[in-house]
Amino acid sequence: MDFKIDLLGKTGNPKFNDNHKIDYLNLVKPLEWENGVCKIVCNQCKTIQEISFNYANRLIQVLYILQKPLPKEFKTKEDFKNWYFVLPYCDYCKKNNKIAELEIKKITRPN
Ligand SMILES: [Zn+2]
Repeated sequence: MDFKIDLLGKTGNPKFNDNHKIDYLNLVKPLEWENGVCKIVCNQCKTIQEISFNYANRLIQVLYILQKPLPKEFKTKEDFKNWYFVLPYCDYCKKNNKIAELEIKKITRPN
C-alpha cells in the first residue's frame, strides 16, 4: 500500500519513554489535556500523547481508507474512552511509510 496520508495532528502532553516499551501506567492514567479524548502511542519511539476529538476522528477515517476492521463504532467522545491508537510514527521521530500499521486498540492489562 503506497498512499501518502499525513497522520500528524495537534496533540497534548507528550510522555516520552526511553525504554521502547509501551508504558502501561501512562496509558491508563486519566487524560490531562482539556481537549484530549484518548491517547496515541508511537510504534517507533513509544511516546504517548493525548489527542483531540477531531484528530481521533481523522484517524478513524484513515482506518476506513485502509479498510481496517473497526472493533466498534466511534462516534462520540465517550466512544474513545479506554481505547488508544498505535501510530507508525509521531512528530518526535522519523516518518515512515508504514501507514497500514495504524491500529486502534482497547486498553488492556499487560500479562
Ligand atoms: Zn515516535
